Amino acid sequence: MTAWQALAQEHGNALVFGNGRSYGDSCLAASDHVLQTLPLDRVIAADWTTGVLRAEPGVTLEQILAVAIPRGWMLPVTPGTKYATLGGSIANDVHGKNHHVRGTFGRHVRRFGLARSDGNVLECSAELHADLYAATIGGLGLTGLILWAEIQLMPIRSSLIDVRNIRFDNLDEFFELSTRLDPLHEYSVAWVDCQSRGQALGRGIFMVGDHAQDGPLEVDCRKKRTVPVTLPIPLFNPLTLRAFNGLYYHRQPRGETRAKVSYDAYFYPLDSLLEWNRIYGRKGFQQYQCVIPPEAARDATRAILDAIATSGTGSFLAVLKRCGDIRSPGLLSFPREGTSLALDFPQRDAANAQLFSRLDAIVREASGRLYPAKDAHMSGEDFRAAYPQWEQLETLRDPAMLSRFWERTTRT
Ligand SMILES: Cc1cc2nc3c(=O)[nH]c(=O)nc-3n(C[C@H](O)[C@H](O)[C@H](O)COP(=O)(O)OP(=O)(O)OC[C@H]3O[C@@H](n4cnc5c(N)ncnc54)[C@H](O)[C@@H]3O)c2cc1C
Repeated sequence: MTAWQALAQEHGNALVFGNGRSYGDSCLAASDHVLQTLPLDRVIAADWTTGVLRAEPGVTLEQILAVAIPRGWMLPVTPGTKYATLGGSIANDVHGKNHHVRGTFGRHVRRFGLARSDGNVLECSAELHADLYAATIGGLGLTGLILWAEIQLMPIRSSLIDVRNIRFDNLDEFFELSTRLDPLHEYSVAWVDCQSRGQALGRGIFMVGDHAQDGPLEVDCRKKRTVPVTLPIPLFNPLTLRAFNGLYYHRQPRGETRAKVSYDAYFYPLDSLLEWNRIYGRKGFQQYQCVIPPEAARDATRAILDAIATSGTGSFLAVLKRCGDIRSPGLLSFPREGTSLALDFPQRDAANAQLFSRLDAIVREASGRLYPAKDAHMSGEDFRAAYPQWEQLETLRDPAMLSRFWERTTRT
């Protein structure tokens, strides 16, 4: 009997735990007993002529980059943290700044080995055990333990990124820039001042980027700093939030600026500040990420930003991104064509509950959905309506695997 089978037998259920970079309760076991995969951190094989890499599930994206970049290969899709594991990136089918060009992480997963609690170890791909392949990509760790995975990397000529930053004055300008520039660039994302109102509602900084055509192929070893203590109260209150957002917006000059930056600074700004979550104080923070289909995106995003700006709470990090129409192979993947907005809110139970309920109503009305990997509040009703494929996943779920998220959203 394997360790996780024993865990599940003793405690009723268990869950696999990658590196805990999910913001909500989808990475927590209903029984509170998890099997951590970080020690499974070997690269098993790599073909540097084709860029196909096979590794154990606890390998982090940082470890993959360390071997791939010097050989001219890059992750085809990366989230905003390099500390996610390979297994966790598959289970949440993570997306990045190039969703409009390359879709989700799962699209680049050729095959993987899946251990089920009945003792079977299955090789899954689009051809082999195709139902479990689809259910595991974005399957929230519920279909079994991914033992290894094979992914296709993307060739690059340089580890530097050519960046263009453009300040925009309102939400309509964001949509115009995105329509014009997304087709021209590999990466595209915008920071939004979520405290702005009226004519300036949705103003921000539009950031597009591409891998430079020449330059070094260097692994970045930026010095990391740590937030030394957990602040007794959050650094961000309505006053400091407004000041921060205003200053950040005005720091970017009118018009456009260009720069060449390291991939690490471009993709992983938060990773260089270890334990950055401490700035939110003892109670921490909650993320809110939704995606709204194209036909409703403009009005719903405006309504969401307006509700946030008038709520008295808010975020210093609000990220807006147009997702493309490339379908994921994953059954329950979050990204879909439309506009995604992600924000961090300092944890203030009553205020957040009130605001989230208003935001949920806007998302529901617009036929949008929330990201399970970042969720800690979505109602079961909303989850099941937004992800009707959940029933299919339930039939393929490994009976030994159960997360707090799944228990909360499918049994209430
Ligand atoms: C600063 C920051 C920025 C982020 N930016 C983005 C972003 O841009 N886009 C995005 O999509 N996400 C983003 N995220 C979320 C993060 O990338 C995902 O939650 C990711 O899945 C976390 O991976 P992990 O290895 O820490 O997995 P965990 O959080 O530990 O687990 C995630 C899920 O994977 C399952 N799992 C893990 N390993 C296995 C395995 N071997 N077999 C089966 N199931 C497994 C777990 O059961 C769980 O359901 C961000 C998170 C942070 C902290």
